Amino acid sequence: MAAPKVAVVGAGVVGLSTALCVVETFPACSLAVVAEQFTPDTTSDVAAGMLIPHTTPGTPIHVQKQWFKETFTYLFAISNSVEAAEAGTHFVSGWQVFKSTPKEESPFWSDVVLGFRPMSEAELQKFPQHSCGQAFTTLKCDCPPYLLWLEKRLKAKGVQMYTRKVANLWELHSEYNIVVNCAGIGAHQLVGDQKLFPVRGQVLKVHAPWVKNFIRDGDGLTYIYPGIHSVTLGGTREKESWSLSPNPNTTKDIFDRCCALEPSLQRAQDIKVKVGLRPSRACVRLQREILSQGGAKLLVVHNYGHGSGGFSMHRGTAKEAAHLVGECIAALQDFSSRAKL
Ligand code: FAD
Repeated sequence: MAAPKVAVVGAGVVGLSTALCVVETFPACSLAVVAEQFTPDTTSDVAAGMLIPHTTPGTPIHVQKQWFKETFTYLFAISNSVEAAEAGTHFVSGWQVFKSTPKEESPFWSDVVLGFRPMSEAELQKFPQHSCGQAFTTLKCDCPPYLLWLEKRLKAKGVQMYTRKVANLWELHSEYNIVVNCAGIGAHQLVGDQKLFPVRGQVLKVHAPWVKNFIRDGDGLTYIYPGIHSVTLGGTREKESWSLSPNPNTTKDIFDRCCALEPSLQRAQDIKVKVGLRPSRACVRLQREILSQGGAKLLVVHNYGHGSGGFSMHRGTAKEAAHLVGECIAALQDFSSRAKL
């Protein structure tokens, strides 16, 4: 059988990392990334890129933990290598602070991040409005550098990149044997998934290089995440809102909330406002599907719906998607040997 032709639809963090896992696992495949938008115009470019997971109701906790752990281990190695600056990945320490004692003493990911511990009384003096908190070190991906780094690795492995809007997956059937759907919120229209909905997020990217520690208010709505080139101030979570226009009242509200946590941000400069739609679902759709029309078949693997946690779990879900691509390759070999009988 000829080398299988695989198309990954989507060039956000999920599409590019899935393409990389597929080409690393099955180097004989001929692989292409097909996307309407590439960096810097994807939702992934808006994200803060922090590795702090959000719990989703539809996936068992041990699976969410596994995805997070695989992602953390992968980015730990990159951050600890000469690649770190180009990949835009780095360690970042800070605090998650609460006004009242949280329900969960230790979240499921507390033994994956580094040095998770309750904050000391001395640390809490920095946050007079808060009564307790947790200190830890985690990892952060800066975008677009991380997406550009993934693209560079893919191109070095011979992967082709095509800018194209796909109206339905079947249109790829004449060119590819296997299609991996990593379209993020675009999957709502692409495959008509009514369980997928947007959770709009507005953030500010500001120049405040003196801010070195992250600060996250316990509800996760207000956060200050320092990156290599800018600090991300957030945020909002607006369920079912499809608007990509920045709201000036929200900008002021985010800025005021962040200054209440870190007063030195009053001096922040070069404020840029960004909006993105988190592709949200009760659980990530990681699934194989066979599409058929008039006796012809197209093997599909879905990997979308990462909501607020695309960066926190992208490598774990990419590995699982690559495993499903492996099952598709085995099925193709099976079809081809049966056809010869
Ligand atoms: P996207 O980045 O949206 O990529 C989808 C790709 O599919 C794009 O290339 C698009 O053009 C393409 N596409 C869609 N439809 C089609 C089509 N029909 N034909 C061709 N191409 C198509 N997560 C974290 O883990 N940590 C954070 O700190 C964090 N902060 C965030 C802050 C904000 C404000 C927002 C909005 C999100 C945040 N997230 C965070 C969530 C994270 O951004 C998402 O989970 C992640 O970006 C989803 O990646 P994706 O690749 O699935 O989607």
